Amino acid sequence: MGHVFGRSSAQLPRAVRGEGCYIHDAEGRAYLDGSGGAAVSCLGHSDPDVRAAIHAQLDQLAFAHTGFFTSEAAESLADLLIEHAPEGIDRVYLLSGGSESVEAAIKLARQYFLETGQPQRHRVIARRQSYHGNTLGALAAGGNAWRREKYAPLLVETSHIAPCYEYRLREEGESAEAYGLRAADELEAEIQRLGAESVMAFIAEPVVGATAGAVPAVEGYFKRIREICDRHGVLLILDEVMCGMGRTGTLFACEQDGISPDIVTIAKGLGAGYMPIGAMLCTAAIYDAIAQGSGAFQHGHTYHGHPLAAAAGRAVLTAILGRNLLPQVRARGDYLQTTLTETLGQHPHVGDIRGRGLFRGIELVADRDSKSPFDPALKINAKVKRFAMDEGLICYPAGGTLDGKHGDHVLLAPPFIISEDQ
Ligand code: PLP
Repeated sequence: MGHVFGRSSAQLPRAVRGEGCYIHDAEGRAYLDGSGGAAVSCLGHSDPDVRAAIHAQLDQLAFAHTGFFTSEAAESLADLLIEHAPEGIDRVYLLSGGSESVEAAIKLARQYFLETGQPQRHRVIARRQSYHGNTLGALAAGGNAWRREKYAPLLVETSHIAPCYEYRLREEGESAEAYGLRAADELEAEIQRLGAESVMAFIAEPVVGATAGAVPAVEGYFKRIREICDRHGVLLILDEVMCGMGRTGTLFACEQDGISPDIVTIAKGLGAGYMPIGAMLCTAAIYDAIAQGSGAFQHGHTYHGHPLAAAAGRAVLTAILGRNLLPQVRARGDYLQTTLTETLGQHPHVGDIRGRGLFRGIELVADRDSKSPFDPALKINAKVKRFAMDEGLICYPAGGTLDGKHGDHVLLAPPFIISEDQ
């Protein structure tokens, strides 16, 4: 008792049961899972099909090392993902979570350029308001100052440009379209500053999650980003660890931006909380360059491609597609946006309400007119989280505005099965 090393775990309620959209604690309290943890539990808790798939896989085969075997579970999950992946995406590398997937994406980009005779390409460009994971490579890519601060000497140098953040960065009188192009053009300027021949990849979340509370780019931004990457031979990595797997109403969020990446990462909603799993998907061009070059991606983890996790992922994806949940995500998402706007839209401390599908963020501000954030010492986010939990609601406190230190956002990412009443 009390030996778990985690965030103030001694004071946290002990979760004992999950059912539908609720988690129950040892004291008998029920919590409505309004954020799916951190946009994880897309099918809610205790889904019978996912549980059955895991049990069936366990009865057949729990583990076979990927150095020796492939498995039916991994192969069929990869086939299903590719069938529904953005255009051009052709191969899947299975991992155990989001950070691992981002690490693998960065390493794959590097190996691709080694194999294609461009060893000088090694730089990554990312965005200031972003989170790509807590391992050192992913943390270096991430742009959140607070998360990076303590580990700064361990992080490889990464360029960070401004995010596409209409609420704060679109200028008065500027159209959304013009703003999107201006924001994207920062990438081109940074590539030119660094020298295109040294730049390997640009990484971005299509809808920013943990550091900003569900901020989508304006229309046209990612199309321009795609053009810039192509013009300079830079790989586009989209991190859909949080916003992918149907969370925004399409299986991949980038479908709504009308582009395909070279590499895309997914995780949270893929395992939906039933198993730890992530995936990195890439184009045939990247895969072929390596397959026909040195022969293999020089990477691996003991548990990547784990059959139990793959069986869970396949069952989750089958449920999302087979139960036709994507239109439901769009409809419930619209309802959530409308309801939040009607109830909180005029609140003096609500600056913005935004998002896509069942991925919504509420930005809290000290002052609506100046958009000034609260003093971080007030710990508004932590207070909102605690207050909501006391009321029986789980919502995710996304933190950080442009300097990465200030900023309070409430992220809502409920299970796709949530009802309007809930
Ligand atoms: N990338 C994004 C966009 C995320 O939101 C997260 C986690 O919040 C990660 C990567 C890291 O994933 P994990 O916590 O599974 O390592």
